[in-house]
Amino acid sequence: MNHERQAIIAQITALIPRYVLACYPTPLLLARRLTAALGSPTIWFKRDDLISFGLGGNKVRGLEVLLADALAQKASRLVTGAGVQSNHVRATAAVAAHAGLACTAVYWGKPPAHIDGNYRVTKMLGSDIFFTQDNDRESVDSHILQVADTLRQQGENPYSIPRGGASALGALGHILAVFELYQQCVSVNLQPDAIVFAVGSGGTYAGWLCGTKLLNLPWRLECYSVSREPEQVSIQVARLATEAAQLLQLDWQFSAADAPVHGGFIGAGYGIPSTEAAAAIRLVGRNEGLLLDPTYTGKAMAGLLDDLANEQFSEYQNIVFLHTGGEPAFFAGNGDWLNN
Ligand SMILES: *Cc1c(COP(=O)(O)O)cnc(C)c1O
Repeated sequence: MNHERQAIIAQITALIPRYVLACYPTPLLLARRLTAALGSPTIWFKRDDLISFGLGGNKVRGLEVLLADALAQKASRLVTGAGVQSNHVRATAAVAAHAGLACTAVYWGKPPAHIDGNYRVTKMLGSDIFFTQDNDRESVDSHILQVADTLRQQGENPYSIPRGGASALGALGHILAVFELYQQCVSVNLQPDAIVFAVGSGGTYAGWLCGTKLLNLPWRLECYSVSREPEQVSIQVARLATEAAQLLQLDWQFSAADAPVHGGFIGAGYGIPSTEAAAAIRLVGRNEGLLLDPTYTGKAMAGLLDDLANEQFSEYQNIVFLHTGGEPAFFAGNGDWLNN
């Protein structure tokens, strides 16, 4: 089995052109004190927050593939968007700067009163900034296309990346993350029963679905939505996974049922810290000296803790929590939420 998997890894990796920006693998860390505190399955952290480029996080993995494509198309600029505290936009700005490309960040709404967290970093990196003046998050989608059109008329060659980085091409970068974790597990003789992570726009989950299927791995993917209703996320993830498989010449059709998503931990809304996430962040911080973020990983951890407490995962012996990054958002705003 191992030989077959190694052959698939070699074959698929060769099909995914990327511009490598960071040092891999990211660490796989045993959370000894957290596990003892919970008296639960053994918990491990896959430290993608430590990706050694642009303040890290999962978005860099997708962007390495997108940048290779942008450079092959001789792009002059990257255009993408999301909310002002977006990790994806911050990472894109860093990637553009590194590759000598211009960058335009399209944000929904109006300029915020405070320039902090990811927004401060993105501005420092020199991105051109555009606000849609519309609080609907979807307003970003049409404006990315409009901004790119205008640039094209001005003689530029813009490369558009969908909101939040959710593209099939980007998902290929996360397939490589599955390969990476699998290799690490082999080397420490670990057989995780489940991989747990936060889902936003779905590109990460799409890649993990494809990668897990490619290697026929026995682990479950337990994903917690931090923005949309689970049903909506499942549809989007299935679409992205199907498209990503097509890019690898695989005739796979994923349905929403293949991409189950846990709901119930979004709190008051995307990007709004929840009491449960604050408690999860404190627990992990005080037991492991490890920082989770209030928008993504804190909410996914709150979901995991709740499901562990309710014995939803009692059949699991080893759980890997994918730390997808996002720490800059911890430093946005006044932090009042943390002590509530
Ligand atoms: C974007 C993001 C996610 C979710 O990834 P998607 O591919 O959008 O689902 C999780 N954690 C962090 C820190 C992120 O920035």
